[in-house]
Amino acid sequence: MFFWSERVTGPRGAVIDCYFTDREGGVSGGDVGSLNLSGAVGDDPGNVEVNRGRLASAMGIERSRLLLMSSRHSTTVVPVTDRSPEVIADGMVTATPGSALVALAADCVPILLYDATVGVVAAVHAGRVGMADGIVAEAVQVLRREGAQQIHAIVGPAICGRCYEVPADLQESVASRWPVTRSVTWSGTAAIDVPAGVVWQLAQEDVAVRWLPGCTREDPTLFSHRRDRPGGRGAGVIVMREAAA
Ligand SMILES: [Zn+2]
Repeated sequence: MFFWSERVTGPRGAVIDCYFTDREGGVSGGDVGSLNLSGAVGDDPGNVEVNRGRLASAMGIERSRLLLMSSRHSTTVVPVTDRSPEVIADGMVTATPGSALVALAADCVPILLYDATVGVVAAVHAGRVGMADGIVAEAVQVLRREGAQQIHAIVGPAICGRCYEVPADLQESVASRWPVTRSVTWSGTAAIDVPAGVVWQLAQEDVAVRWLPGCTREDPTLFSHRRDRPGGRGAGVIVMREAAA
């Protein structure tokens, strides 16, 4: 179920729980097996819903508290409140306890952000396009607008710079703007390191970053769009929980 999870102490006795899922523990079959969380990859909608229910249950929350977004490789980051309808965006920010923000990804970079002192959290989906267009800076800006001051980020498993082969002209167009993303594959051809770009951009924004090890394409316990075509989607999830009364 969980590739990685961690609890952070939040404000006034609250806690902030951060998770990245793996492929295990769901009911989907084949390339989307088993814990696919996306309704947009051809999986049976009933299976997706069971998987989302199992995720909520493993986190100890109600299914209705999982807030999903419809990702578009945009730089749109929106503040959401309790029980917001599904938004079209690539990032969500909330200060509402109990609402679990879900960023789906499989090779793209899931990013969880929080200010544990103020009590505001965010989940972001950053692929090549979103990273290059500036979704990281946008997410930080929206977080600060919502009161965040000291922001921490956890960068989840994504396709690594050795596995993300691209045509040389595409590499050039991205690397000319973000030199840290210039990479080569295991076989020496042109590649882009999207997570390296995300981490560098976060650092530029004075965010304290932790970059988790793990390449989605190389680790068979994680979903990879490039390997599985199209394959399922895992998630980064962040939720703030109020202190027990
Ligand atoms: Zn890799």
